[in-house]
This record gives sequence, C-alpha cells and structure tokens, in this order.
Amino acid sequence: MPGTLKSEAVVLRSLRYGEADRILHLYTPDRGRLSAIAKGVRRSKSRFGGRLEPFFRLRLVLYQGRTDLLTVTSAETVHAHARLREHGGALDAASRACDAVGRLFADGEPHSGVYHLLANQLALIDADPARATLANALAFRLKLLLAAGFAPQLAACAGCGETEHLAGFSGAAGGVVCSACEASAFALGQDAHDFLVGALGRPLADVADAPPRALAQAERAILETLEHHAHLRLRPVG
Ligand SMILES: [Zn+2]
Repeated sequence: MPGTLKSEAVVLRSLRYGEADRILHLYTPDRGRLSAIAKGVRRSKSRFGGRLEPFFRLRLVLYQGRTDLLTVTSAETVHAHARLREHGGALDAASRACDAVGRLFADGEPHSGVYHLLANQLALIDADPARATLANALAFRLKLLLAAGFAPQLAACAGCGETEHLAGFSGAAGGVVCSACEASAFALGQDAHDFLVGALGRPLADVADAPPRALAQAERAILETLEHHAHLRLRPVG
C-alpha cells in the first residue's frame, strides 16, 4: 500500500541516476536494506545539500509507491562522519563495512543489531580514524557473521565436540576442530583463537590487537566461514 515511512538509515552506496537524481542503497533498523531515489539531488539548489552520500547516518522520510524503489522526501543528518572522510584508512574501513552489510543481507531482511553495529563502527572510526586497524575490521566482520547467524563455533570441536587439542579451523565444519577432525582444516594458533573469542565477546571499541600471524589466521577463518555458510566472497582486509 502506498504511504510514507519514517526511518533512520545509513547510506551504503549513492549512485548517479539520470540528469540530476541519485539512487541510494540504504540500511535501516526495521526494514534492513532498501533502495530509494532522491530526485534533483545533484542540482545546486537541492534541499538535500550534500547529505545523501555514503556513510551518512540520516533521519529520512520516504514515500513508498507501488514499486520496490522508495522516494526520499526529506533527509536530516544524524551523523555526517566528516572526519573519517579525511583519513584514507578510515575511509577504506567505512567502505568495506558498508559493502559487507550490503552484500551479506538481502532487501527486506531486517536485523536491527546489524544497523547498530554499522552505526557504531562508523562512529568509532570517525571519532578516532587511527582505530581503523586490521583487528577492528576483522572484529566487525566477525560480529556481522554473528548477527547473520553464521558465527563460527569456537568453544569445542565443530566435528566431534572435543574441547581439548583444538588445533585447526575448518570453514566447512563451521569452526575450530581438534587434531582428530582436522582433515579440511588449516592450523589455527592459540593467539588467533583468543583473538576470535575476544572479538566476538567484547564491544567493538574494546577489541584487543594481536600479532600479524594470528590476525592472518583469524582473517582466513572469517573468509572461509563467509564462503561456506553465506556463499559470499569478500576482499581480504590485510
Ligand atoms: Zn574433533
């Protein structure tokens, strides 16, 4: 039914369309990913100003007609995240975070936890762009897996339930595996295991760093989990 929808949203992508319009890919708390058109936004006198750009957190009024494409009727800035745009590493981290959210979740599949995770990540690296580290990017992806229901099993062997001798990680098995079950696994050291457990259990702002080798193993675990369970290939961060 046609009508008006008010929602907060994070702009994931903003694409030029026609003479003066933009198509926005948005992530919202209650409706998940959705697409909207903003008309006349590229004219100099547009009432939207420059705020329909990636990484803006907005308060929107949208009109929903009979198609899936909504129309932006008003936009207020909640957070512009201006500082992260001036820092290459933070900009890259923001772009990877928005890309992962846009690709992992389909339209009309709401996860309010994902919205808050994304808003939190953007605010964190905007407040201090130096926090856009490899450890931060991996912790964000791991939390995204958790929100999507694909978090790897870390407490016991994903093959047999053994809690000792956890020496490997298998994306196919869905988590850490013991030495007896490691056929399709790669070696996962104690420090990489500790990093994964810490990244899942702690707030994003409190994730501890880890040695490069541990982060490389943690990244492989995350990428294999995404590939096996979400059928999604993301670019490595490291
Ligand atoms: Zn086992």
